[in-house]
Amino acid sequence: MNIVNDSTCSWINDLTPRTSIKSLQSNEDSDWLIIGAGYTGLSAARKLGQLYPNQKIILVDAQLAGEGASGRNSGYLVDTTLNDGFTSNKDLDNYKKKTEIYNLGINVVKKFINDYQVDCDWNECGKYFASSKKEDEKILRNFSDTLKKLGFTHNLLSNNELSKGLGTNFYNVALYTKGGILLHPGKLVRAMIDVLPKNVCLYENSSLLSWSKTKDIISCKFKNGRVITKKIIFATNGFLKSLGIKSNYNFPITLTASMTRPLTDDEFKSIGQPKEWGVLPIRPMGATIRMTKDRRILIRNTAEVHNPFKMTESHLNKRSINQKIGIKKRFPQLPENIVKSSWSGVVSRTRNSSQIFEKIDNNIFAAGCYNGSGIGVGTLFGEQIAIKATEENSKEIKTIEARRKPTWLPPNPFLNFGVKGRLIYERFKARSDI
Ligand SMILES: Cc1cc2nc3c(=O)[nH]c(=O)nc-3n(C[C@H](O)[C@H](O)[C@H](O)COP(=O)(O)OP(=O)(O)OC[C@H]3O[C@@H](n4cnc5c(N)ncnc54)[C@H](O)[C@@H]3O)c2cc1C
Repeated sequence: MNIVNDSTCSWINDLTPRTSIKSLQSNEDSDWLIIGAGYTGLSAARKLGQLYPNQKIILVDAQLAGEGASGRNSGYLVDTTLNDGFTSNKDLDNYKKKTEIYNLGINVVKKFINDYQVDCDWNECGKYFASSKKEDEKILRNFSDTLKKLGFTHNLLSNNELSKGLGTNFYNVALYTKGGILLHPGKLVRAMIDVLPKNVCLYENSSLLSWSKTKDIISCKFKNGRVITKKIIFATNGFLKSLGIKSNYNFPITLTASMTRPLTDDEFKSIGQPKEWGVLPIRPMGATIRMTKDRRILIRNTAEVHNPFKMTESHLNKRSINQKIGIKKRFPQLPENIVKSSWSGVVSRTRNSSQIFEKIDNNIFAAGCYNGSGIGVGTLFGEQIAIKATEENSKEIKTIEARRKPTWLPPNPFLNFGVKGRLIYERFKARSDI
C-alpha cells in the first residue's frame, strides 16, 4: 500500500525543495538494503557508508526521504520524559536506563551537527512539563524526587513565573528540566540526507511491497524492480508492523500538529515577547506546545489509532479546529486565523514504551518505536543497529541492550479495541490541557 502524506507540514515547507530524486526502476543487488529514510535509516546508512566505503548500500523510502515523522515532529530532543512517579527501586532503575539512552541520543545528534556544521536552530533552552491544574503539582513533586535521585537539574515553577516565561496565563504549575533541546526537525533530517556517503544509493517514492528470505538470500519486491541483498535493516518505525516486523510488539499511532504563521510585532508584544520555549504535557494526551525562535506557535494535541497510510483533508481539518481552540485557550489575545498549516505523522508504540533494537533473523535487523524521543534515540539506534548488523559491539549497544524489552501485544481486533479505549480514557483525563 502507498503512503499518501499531506504536503502541508510547515517544517518541510521551510526547506528548499530537493532535486535529482531517483526511484528504483530496475533489478539490483546490494550488500546492504535499508528500508526507511528517516533519522533511523539515514543514520544507519551514514554509519555503514563510513564503515564500508567500497560496499553497495541501498536506502529506500516509500515517500521522499525525511518526510515521514522525522520531518514532521515537534522538535524536542529530550533528556527526560515524564512518568507518574515511582514506587520501587526497579522502576527507578528502568527510568535510569531510559535516560542513559536519551543522553546517548543527545550526544550523537550533537556530534552529528558539530561534525557536519549543521544549522538546525539548535537551542539548549530546556523544556517545561506543565499543567493548568494546580493539583498536578503532586505528580510533578514525585517526578522531581526521581530527577533529584538521578541528578537532573530542574526546578518547579508556579503560575507567575510561567506567565512571564511563556507569555500565557494558562499554566499553573510546571517542572522545568535544563537538559532538553529544541530544534528544527526538518533542517536536521535534511542535513542527514545531504551528507549521505557516496556509496549510499537513495531511492525515493519506492515502497517495499513484500520481502522474503530463502536460505541466505533476501529478496525485496518494489513496484518497478527488485533488490537482492545480503543484509537488510528495517527502519520504518510506524510501518514496521505493516511489513510484518515484530508485529506482536508494536503498533502505529497517528499524531497531528498545527503551526501558526510568525506572530507580528504587535501580536508578539501582546504576549510579552517571550524567548523560544517548549512545553510538554503532564498527561500523555495533553498538548505539546512550542514557541519557535521565529515566533511561530506549534501545537500537537492528538494521538490516535488511524489508518497510517493516509489521512484525508477533511479528517485533518477536523483535528486542526481542535488545535486552533488549543492555541486560543492559551493565547486569547491572538487573532483566530493565524494557523498556517496542519499535518499528520505516524509513530510507533510498544506496550511498555520500550524500543525495538534487534537482530530478527540472520542478516535481518530492525530498529524503531521511540515514542516521543525519536530525534535522539532514532539517530542513536540507526548508527548502532548498523554496527550490530556488522556483528560488532559497542558500549552504546551494551547500554541499549540493558533496557527493558518490549512486551507482547494481543492481535487485532483486540489490540485496536484496547488501544482505542486507553486513548479515550487518557484523553478524558487530560481534557483541560488539550
Ligand atoms: C507530530 C509528531 C510529533 C513528534 N514529536 C517528537 C518530538 O518532539 N521529539 C522526538 O524525539 N520525537 C517526536 N516524534 C517522534 C519522531 O518523529 C519519530 O520517533 C522519529 O521520526 C522516528 O524516526 P524513524 O526514522 O525511525 O522513522 P520515520 O521518520 O517515520 O521514517 C520511517 C520511514 O520509513 C518509510 N517507509 C515506511 N514503510 C515503507 C515501505 N514499505 N517501503 C519503504 N519505505 C517505507 C516512511 O516513508 C518513512 O519515511 C514526533 C512524531 C510526530 C508525528
